[in-house]
Amino acid sequence: MSFVKDLLALFAGAARLLVWGIAAALVFGTAGVAATSLLPPGLAVWSVIAVWFFLVAFFAAGAILFHELGHAAAARAAGWRVHLIAVGPVAYRPRAKQFMRRPRSAGSDNWGLVLATPPAGGDWEKGRATVFLGGVAANVLCAAVGLAMLLGYSPISLPGALFVGFAAVSLAFAVDNLVPRRKSGRWTNDGAVLLDIARGRRVSVTNRDLGWLAGYMYDGIDSRSWDAELVGRLETATLDARQGALRDSMFLTRYLALGDVVRAHALLENSGAANSSANTPLVIERAFLVAIVERDAEKASSLLKLAPERKWRGSYNYWRARMAVHGVRGEIEQAREAAGHARVLVRRQSLRPDGDDIALMETCERGEPPPTRFGQTA
Ligand SMILES: [Zn+2]
Repeated sequence: MSFVKDLLALFAGAARLLVWGIAAALVFGTAGVAATSLLPPGLAVWSVIAVWFFLVAFFAAGAILFHELGHAAAARAAGWRVHLIAVGPVAYRPRAKQFMRRPRSAGSDNWGLVLATPPAGGDWEKGRATVFLGGVAANVLCAAVGLAMLLGYSPISLPGALFVGFAAVSLAFAVDNLVPRRKSGRWTNDGAVLLDIARGRRVSVTNRDLGWLAGYMYDGIDSRSWDAELVGRLETATLDARQGALRDSMFLTRYLALGDVVRAHALLENSGAANSSANTPLVIERAFLVAIVERDAEKASSLLKLAPERKWRGSYNYWRARMAVHGVRGEIEQAREAAGHARVLVRRQSLRPDGDDIALMETCERGEPPPTRFGQTA
């Protein structure tokens, strides 16, 4: 069976490549028209190539934006709730009315992401096809509008060429998302989900619970008021590696928000995800908790070695862990320096550290060892 799947995946990949090739060629035509009408005459081929790169990026960004908005609009129309819309590195939480960096958790789209769920206790099968078709439908609509505009313009005029290019990229996006994609042994994109729906595969209880839990998180609902029954089900459920990593990172947020570092520490000590270098964000959190709860600087810093500074210096949690490790070790200067980095990131990324985090930064800045008791100041 695996052979058949691999063969199908190969065909799907070839179809995708073909469509992207055609779109790229059409945008090259757009670039040629744009370069001849906008740039001074006598420029070399490289200027057309530069314009082509710019146009591909520009059209793709537009197509991703419309694709994700299409999912969100379809979700609203189906009576679902939209918790997160991400395009590239930027994400928006409509219910919390807040922008944030795109989370690392994987969605079905490659460059964007929409998290939508039925209302609490609702039916996941009702409206699911609409939600997953919404993205592709939006791209098809964009392509149709682009082509309809050609009635008023010649395709070799600048506006006409731009409409052709955008229509081509939009259509390529529609096909790319509709043809099922296979990645690391799983079918992953919108088309794959739609195929599952057509075959009558239902969303599992665990995936429903994980979806709702993610919804609570992005909506900014206080973790004390999360549905206890749902949390209990997830605590005892048997999960695969991906689901386990998702659950553990959400439970961690809950325990940290409650200031319960002991439970957070126990969770990560038993978490498969926090023990593997494949999930560095959780390993960083584990290093932080080992330092705070076990006061074992050696163990904590050997965990932190899995997160090289040059790669993680833009992560607030990384510097929080460094504060704790240096603090426990009595390296006052380095702890103070880590607190400085954390402060900068709080400002730059508009983060909202809770009382415990602020207390940790202040103790490091005063040159004292990090606090052991959390949840007192929250
Ligand atoms: Zn999509």
